[in-house]
Amino acid sequence: MSILIDGKAHAARLREEIGRQVGRLRQHDLITPGLAVILVGEDPASQVYVRNKATQAREAGMSSFEYRLADSVPQIQLLDLIERLNCDPEVHGILVQLPLPPQVDEARVIQAICPAKDIDGFHPINVGNIATGGYGMVPCTPLGCLTLLKFQLGDLSGKRAVVLGRSNIVGKPMASLLLKEHCTVTVAHSRTRQLEEVCRQADILVAAVGRPCLVKEDWIKPGATVIDVGINRIEADGRTRLVGDVDFEGARKVAGALTPVPGGVGPMTIACLLLNTLEATCRQHDIPFPDDIMSLAWGSTSA
Ligand code: NAD
Repeated sequence: MSILIDGKAHAARLREEIGRQVGRLRQHDLITPGLAVILVGEDPASQVYVRNKATQAREAGMSSFEYRLADSVPQIQLLDLIERLNCDPEVHGILVQLPLPPQVDEARVIQAICPAKDIDGFHPINVGNIATGGYGMVPCTPLGCLTLLKFQLGDLSGKRAVVLGRSNIVGKPMASLLLKEHCTVTVAHSRTRQLEEVCRQADILVAAVGRPCLVKEDWIKPGATVIDVGINRIEADGRTRLVGDVDFEGARKVAGALTPVPGGVGPMTIACLLLNTLEATCRQHDIPFPDDIMSLAWGSTSA
């Protein structure tokens, strides 16, 4: 039976430390990190995500500013709001919840966010900096996955990693981060041939495809560490439940360690959003980003 990587517990620990650091910033530097979240439209899943992000930001002692715009909002109005937030000294991080309605050009919106406040790490400047091995805001989900991997495995150097999925928000940045950790990285996707065989090579398998239970027991190398990013809603016995991209029961028999869904990567994503907001605040005020929080997030404490 594999070790279960408890993302919920790791996230709670990380949020606690972030809360302590926010308390110090407020007390010593009289600065309150501010997170602005923009939601366009009424998508129920997005509303839940936005609510959770705002609540957890407040619980960590940050200011949370929420902007809810109608589904029909003209692009110019959204761009104007972003411009105002870029200039607002009380706002240190800006997040636009995706997806956006068709009249809005997603790339244009992402590029409008000041890179220093781009806590989602989607701006091309941050993407480019990460890809070239420099400093940039790291997208929250891959950052959460990497943090879990480092807690579990310590040094990742030389390990064979397979990232299943090549999206801009998960697969590609995940591959960049693993490469930076000196892994040998393969990115697999919908056109990959002999996908099972590719996956079986992996010491580290990160699944981010959005296909319920795609990765089966016999796709996994015995002892591998499996990070399941997928969040899929399925109907079973008249009820909706969440499953990942990995067949959990099968994978448990063979993986060395595995994240559950829910309770794995999901909670880490929001914790990393707060971490990015804290880091953005420190950088905007020329305050060194605290070492102890980095070692907590990136720590070498293997389980
Ligand atoms: P996406 O749809 O943008 O990309 C999916 C990728 O999977 C594509 O690159 C595609 O090539 C690949 N793919 C699709 N079908 C495949 C198949 N049969 N075989 C191999 N590859 C295939 O998705 P995304 O935004 O990267 O999200 C992926 C999953 O992760 C979704 O379930 C999403 O809900 C979840 N997600 C979770 C979190 C979190 O916080 N836990 C955050 C973001 C996304």
